[in-house]
Amino acid sequence: MTGSATEILGHSRKLADSRRMVVKIGSVILVDEETGTIRQDWLDALAADVAARRKAGQEVLLVSSGAIAVGRRHLDITRRNLKLEESQAAAATGQGRLVHAYQEAMARHGLTTAQILLTLDDTERRRRHLNARETLETLLGLGAVPLINENDTVATEEIRFGDNDRLAARVAQMVGADTLVLLSDVDGLYTADPLSDPDAVLVPEVREITPEISAMAGEAKPGDGSGGMVTKLMAARITFAAGCRMIIAPGKLA
Ligand code: GLU
Repeated sequence: MTGSATEILGHSRKLADSRRMVVKIGSVILVDEETGTIRQDWLDALAADVAARRKAGQEVLLVSSGAIAVGRRHLDITRRNLKLEESQAAAATGQGRLVHAYQEAMARHGLTTAQILLTLDDTERRRRHLNARETLETLLGLGAVPLINENDTVATEEIRFGDNDRLAARVAQMVGADTLVLLSDVDGLYTADPLSDPDAVLVPEVREITPEISAMAGEAKPGDGSGGMVTKLMAARITFAAGCRMIIAPGKLA
């Protein structure tokens, strides 16, 4: 899938039969690396796509990263590797700005955005899980677009996801979504890191996460987006177990 100004959620053929999809937006595509500002034209294109999906009768939940990437600039933290407490402060500073940008973009298409902040605990403890699921179902029933992020400010090292790939997979599992789309700066899984290995080739489809497949992911890289291919494969494990398919797709505008 190559994104274009009018269609970010490409993969039309694959997404056409989806009834309920979770779309995860990575920091690298939403937030400008240099300035720490939200790419407005990108967000506008996404909002148009979400509106089109909704018009086609499909339900869409968004899981967006970017709070830390946006917030750290407002606190003059220029380093990329933040201490936990700095990440929490940055998330607290950026989350409101992030949600506001989504609200404005979605509202132009007549869509209402609703923020949900979750921790690992909320997805694992039965009562919290059921409560969160109930709220998400209610929001979908009322026609709102849930916008989910990790509740970074209260999540300590031991009880946090740290990446939204797995959070999105848990959300997909929680709401019984049939499709999880991970929008990122990569167009899929490669046999090796394509940036360092010219022989790396794209693996078009994976049906099982074998040790060979896991080995292809390599290691996570530091930066605003904390995921990388490692957490994407962890997300795949969660979604596969829930009978949900996962698509890794580049969310870049053409
Ligand atoms: N929750 C983090 C944020 O909003 C993002 C985690 C990730 O990079 O996936 O900034």
